Amino acid sequence: MPGKKICIVGSGNWGSVIAKIVGVNAHRLQYIDDRVTMYVYEEMIDGQKLTEIINTTHENVKYLPGHKLPPNVVAVPDLVEAAADADFLVFVVPHQFVRNLCNTLVGKIKPTAIAISLIKGFDIAEGGGIELISNVINRSLKVPVAVLMGANLAGEVAKENFCETTIGCADKKVSLALKEIFEADYFRVVCVEDVETVEICGALKNIVACAAGFCDGLQLGDNTKAAVIRLGLMEMVQFVKTFYANCKLATFLESCGVADLITTCYGGRNRMVSEAFVTTGKSIEDLEREKLNGQKLQGPITAHEVNYMLAARKMEDKFPLFTAVDQICKRKIEPKQLIELLKNHPVHQ
Ligand code: NAD
Ligand code: 13P
Ligand code: CA
Repeated sequence: MPGKKICIVGSGNWGSVIAKIVGVNAHRLQYIDDRVTMYVYEEMIDGQKLTEIINTTHENVKYLPGHKLPPNVVAVPDLVEAAADADFLVFVVPHQFVRNLCNTLVGKIKPTAIAISLIKGFDIAEGGGIELISNVINRSLKVPVAVLMGANLAGEVAKENFCETTIGCADKKVSLALKEIFEADYFRVVCVEDVETVEICGALKNIVACAAGFCDGLQLGDNTKAAVIRLGLMEMVQFVKTFYANCKLATFLESCGVADLITTCYGGRNRMVSEAFVTTGKSIEDLEREKLNGQKLQGPITAHEVNYMLAARKMEDKFPLFTAVDQICKRKIEPKQLIELLKNHPVHQ
């Protein structure tokens, strides 16, 4: 019987690290086809196609330089060709691109495929709401969607430093299969059934990381930064309680919760660019271009998405940190006003 096929939809910083882990496991596991396709958004690097560079040197020289991908990971520039035969579709692109990619895949994938989203962010829903990215994938492709989120800065996972991650999957049989596909001895997977909280934690912590970065830029010290992270965590909890009543607070103690919040607030791209926003006075867009070499920030757009929904419900005052981050990124208020707004936080009343 031919093995199950895996396609990685994405090849950025995290996408490339995940391709490495999944590629090694696909080779090792007998029931998984060795050949893993990786959809690469094609671009030219010094006159050569990135897909050709990856398929000859087995290195994503732009998004994960210095780390080899297993040779059984094959870069494919055509999304439909990469995904058509896949039994497992691993979505790992910056969240602003997922809707278009899904549109391209409608009617072109196996109806029995299982998807898993590693994407942190939300999608704007018409009429004042937001939608989980896993819902966007599920609604357009009509396949079940699990999620994988955790304290997983890509550069550190690439070096094989020990860390943990969380898979959210409602079906226990599927989560066992996914655990085998994603686990490594340095990358330990815990599966939970509370899919929504796993995904929401992954999306919201990027907003808090921007606030932590503003704090660093303002040189306010560790106590202030800890307070900001805690208030951000309280807003994450409040958000889940208010809008996703079936969610379990215990999920915040998994890697996708407090652990991801901590690592992103200390070592992530959102933190780094937000610090530079304060110290340089440049715009978020300019700093993203200058500092990230094509990698994408998720926090400022997620702050916009969350505040789009909060504004429609007149609930911004319940989430002052989420709201302030959006306003600071859009230069409606000064970064230092973040702290003034947090002095009257609802948890202090
Ligand atoms: P990235 O930030 O490196 O983004 C660059 C990728 O976007 C490249 O592959 C590029 O080709 C692609 N791209 C650019 N324009 C595109 C377009 N128009 N259409 C499709 N693709 C386009 O990406 P990443 O780090 O792999 O992040 C993907 C997701 O994983 C994000 O939601 C992120 O929050 C999450 N994540 C990232 C990390 C990390 O440390 N990098 C860790 C955990 C989770
Ligand atoms: P940044 O996008 O801020 O680098 O965060 C990466 C991440 O999600 C770590 O788990
Ligand atoms: Ca195999």
